[in-house]
Amino acid sequence: MQDAHLNLIDGMWLPGDHLIQNRNPSDQSDLIGHYAAGTASDVDRAAQAASAALPDWQAKGPLARAELLDRIARRIDEEAAVIGRMLAREEGKILPEAIAEVRRAAQVFRFFAGEALRLPGEAIASVRPGVDVEVMREAVGVVGLITPWNFPAAIPAWKIAPALAYGNAVVLKPAELVPGTAHLLARIIHEEGCPPGIFNLVMGPGSVVGQAMVEHPLIVAISFTGSVPTGRAIARAAALGMKRVQLEMGGKNPMVVMDDADLDTAVAACLNGAFFSTGQRCTASSRLIVQSGIHDAFVERLTKEMLALRVGPALAEDSQIGPVVSVAQLQVNLDYVALARTEGCEVIGGERLNGPTDGFFQRPALFLNASNRMRISREEIFGPCAAVIRVGDFDEALEVANDSEFGLSAGICTNSLTYARAFRHRVRAGMVMVNLPTAGVDFHVPFGGTKGSSFGPREQGRHAVEFYTTVKTAYCFAG
Ligand code: ADP
Repeated sequence: MQDAHLNLIDGMWLPGDHLIQNRNPSDQSDLIGHYAAGTASDVDRAAQAASAALPDWQAKGPLARAELLDRIARRIDEEAAVIGRMLAREEGKILPEAIAEVRRAAQVFRFFAGEALRLPGEAIASVRPGVDVEVMREAVGVVGLITPWNFPAAIPAWKIAPALAYGNAVVLKPAELVPGTAHLLARIIHEEGCPPGIFNLVMGPGSVVGQAMVEHPLIVAISFTGSVPTGRAIARAAALGMKRVQLEMGGKNPMVVMDDADLDTAVAACLNGAFFSTGQRCTASSRLIVQSGIHDAFVERLTKEMLALRVGPALAEDSQIGPVVSVAQLQVNLDYVALARTEGCEVIGGERLNGPTDGFFQRPALFLNASNRMRISREEIFGPCAAVIRVGDFDEALEVANDSEFGLSAGICTNSLTYARAFRHRVRAGMVMVNLPTAGVDFHVPFGGTKGSSFGPREQGRHAVEFYTTVKTAYCFAG
């Protein structure tokens, strides 16, 4: 087939055992292309090649790796418009957001180009005379990266870049819904001179390719971003193989709005945090916890601005919110909208919309008069839906914010230094925002959560070294 996009294994473009169609969620008549679906034997071939290529790769030293990552960053920037268009087409994010995500991927590669030259270590005095002790960091080996559909450029980038920077070899499996962006990234990595076997792309179903990666004895570490059930299954399987794992899973992120908040700031933060990118961010604000004094004014303004958001095709110039990623996810969202009514909320928006094209469009939704006990306040929806929970004071707001099995991101809108400080210290989340949306993070600092949201060392920034390297303690006695 002419438009067949193949897997990259050992520096060669190879077919899997069948092809998967990639279609545009803004317009189902738009067939983006056919992508190879790999098998367990493709994973085996990639892992063997990666393992065999490692010694030469590590012998090249950090400068070669830094230069490679820098070249990749430059190429991603040069091709940002093309990659961004692919991303918008296959994932549904509006084009400006898609291009911004691609630029962020370039920034991540550039950041880790620098980090490759700053591999940390320590010299510590020995307790024994004449002995020197050095604590060194070394690559882990062959790492398996399993990524979700909601950030098809940024998430692969923030896993691939540190993996390569610290001298590992990679097998990447992108989500089935978004192979196109990963394929463009793979082509760049390959063409910019990554040695054969050091970076492998194996596309295909999670239950086949993903599972084979988790079970493969040569893949010694798995970094995964995705849903809670899959994350848990990977953790169990990885434990059997004694692999290290890093899991980024769900969120049910609280955004507290205090009576003293600036209303413009609070509405803007909630509108962005809850609905931008169609709410398809694990850091999206899905519980708006609002103090009673500001509640009605806040709800009135947010409702007005939410209903004014223009929902439409990702590539249309005037769209502010793109489609839901798939018909299956749209159905999940619509079921939660119905559940919100059953649980007693007043629902604003949330209905399926007819767009100019055959896409999965949905009006963003607010679930008013929600309580934190309802399922719509406890389960991650992963769509443009937010519950509004009314509270009396700061202590109640904090208690509600913390009453969740998740702990990824949390925010507060307030002008009180006292509340802001107390919230930063007492909220149980990996990331905390004051007067900012819960979503939207810097690319050079740690990303991750507490409780059921994350497991293992943090991603991004200098903290990525924890997962992608292992420590060796070297003793030396010169006689
Ligand atoms: P979502 O519901 O958002 O698609 P998933 O957790 O199902 O989240 O998917 C995230 C990634 O995990 C995808 O790349 C998917 O193919 C992969 N995946 C799904 N099931 C498995 C599995 N059993 N083992 C390994 N990876 C899997």
